Amino acid sequence: MAPICTRRGNLAFNQKPSAAWIFLTLTLTLGACSSKSSAQTAEETTQAVVLTATSAPSQNEKHISDAKIKELKGELFSGRFTQPERCAALEKLRPIDLIAFFEEINSEDSAAIAPCQEALFQRISDFFELKRMALNSAHAEIEHELLNKCSDQVSPTFGPEQVKSVNTSKGGYISGSYFPRCLVNLTFDDGPHPVFGPLIVQILKSQNVHANFFSVGQRVLESPQTIVEEYKEGNVIGTHSWSHPNMPKLSFNAGVKEIDDAFNLVANVLHINVSFFRFPYGASTKDLRAYLTQGGRTEFTWNIDTLDWKIPDPVKLFRNALKEVNREGRGVILMHETQPQTVVMLPFLLEALRNAGYKPLLMRPLDTVPVQAVTTNVP
Ligand SMILES: [Zn+2]
Repeated sequence: MAPICTRRGNLAFNQKPSAAWIFLTLTLTLGACSSKSSAQTAEETTQAVVLTATSAPSQNEKHISDAKIKELKGELFSGRFTQPERCAALEKLRPIDLIAFFEEINSEDSAAIAPCQEALFQRISDFFELKRMALNSAHAEIEHELLNKCSDQVSPTFGPEQVKSVNTSKGGYISGSYFPRCLVNLTFDDGPHPVFGPLIVQILKSQNVHANFFSVGQRVLESPQTIVEEYKEGNVIGTHSWSHPNMPKLSFNAGVKEIDDAFNLVANVLHINVSFFRFPYGASTKDLRAYLTQGGRTEFTWNIDTLDWKIPDPVKLFRNALKEVNREGRGVILMHETQPQTVVMLPFLLEALRNAGYKPLLMRPLDTVPVQAVTTNVP
């Protein structure tokens, strides 16, 4: 079955049209829906398939390593480069490598790359549009190849989900490895992202399903309205530290501050107690786990890693996500709110899970008590 169609025209973004808006306008018409004529769409789809089929494999592979990208980012945006030099260096990159610079290209403060910003966006947009069309044509075949039927119970939409209330008062941790077979939980880390967050919410809504989000304090400060919207739509917000450090490298006190600052900010923004925590990189210490338990907070891990942060090609990402889901047959799926390829791939993933008879599970803390109600009871 074709993916559920969702129009993105009615999305409300609380920001002025920006380069990100252009990117989304160009690339993120979901599934099979398009405002273009069917003849145009068919022609473009054919072109996409031909391009996918005939491109040398190297066109779809990253050409520079993660370490090199990190180094290049440091160099290019350090101030040592002039604007034209910076643009020239970025324009030399292939689209698949350019995606790693999406945040920099998307920046509201575009002075660093003003002359080439639109052109760089266009290249990324073209890449994703081709990939979306390729997925639109190939997803059924990929599903057939990589995802076995989990159950025969296929619903009209992936959701509605089952909800599991978790008593966080004794800490503990959530691991998807122990879920009943065919149940999967969707999680999105590293947000909130002011553009991709609302899009992810909209895609989830189109399949009548909700997810667990893990927000980074610093990003909440930049974009508080995004988690409010995610929460109001029925998703569950947890935290993911204040600044996303590798916590075992911090002192215990610094780790505690990372945890508390994020929880306090999210609680203040949402006016509820928040009790789920995910360690950045999944890297924890015994002492910090004990600290979470002491505070009645539950560690939330995962067992299905899409590797979306590492795989910029949505077709490859879709393949990897299905392989991992199929291998585990249940569990917590890790994705990231900040990755454009995840937004392109997500409608196809939800549709594939639905087709294969997987069912969604949402984890919710038992004591989601409004903070205002708690404070008014305090003398
Ligand atoms: Zn993270």
